[in-house]
Amino acid sequence: MKIYIASSNPHKISEFSQMFEREGVNCELHGVEGIAAYKPPEEDGKSFEENAFIKAEALKKFAPQNAYVMADDSGIVVDALGGAPGIFSARYAGSDGPDADRLNNKKLLRQMDKIEDSKRSARFVCVIALICPDGLRKSFEGRFEGFVARKESGANGFGYDPLFYVPEFGCTSAELPPDKKNLVSHRANAFQKLSKFLKEKEKI
Ligand code: IMP
Repeated sequence: MKIYIASSNPHKISEFSQMFEREGVNCELHGVEGIAAYKPPEEDGKSFEENAFIKAEALKKFAPQNAYVMADDSGIVVDALGGAPGIFSARYAGSDGPDADRLNNKKLLRQMDKIEDSKRSARFVCVIALICPDGLRKSFEGRFEGFVARKESGANGFGYDPLFYVPEFGCTSAELPPDKKNLVSHRANAFQKLSKFLKEKEKI
């Protein structure tokens, strides 16, 4: 089974590769490097699902006919902010440079300044879009529930992890060992649904 992922991020591809291995899904995994004609599309969808499909469709044109094509989109959804930053998580503070994570977290803390502890609920959401060789389109959503902390803690992970307090573990997701986060995260959760679907479809 060949699977093409609409990402050039080696970290993401290696994370997915480990997840496929752990789930016992034997496949040949490819990123977009080597596909010169592929250009990352504008992600102008209105939901994680729409943006994930925009990326998957853009790659489908260039992937081999017999391959599965997948793309994911994710972000943090904060209840007290009406779901913001949501699909705009990566550029919440307006920058996509090397400083983006730090500026995003600063902005989130500022926006949440007056919000009391019991109203700081939030979740990471990940949607994986899949286009099958026969043209079937499926999406898989995963969630990771927590609260927005009042200060950053922890050095693992990336993005909003230092602010994402997970009551189940009594720490932020940046304080969780990566192996542990990768078992319970929104991405892991969406991935488990994807892998169940692939195993049933491919009868493996
Ligand atoms: P992407 O669309 O999956 O690349 O992610 C969009 C943005 O959501 C990232 O740049 C992060 O700011 C945020 N995000 C997604 N997943 C995580 C996570 O697991 N931890 C921290 N931030 C995340």
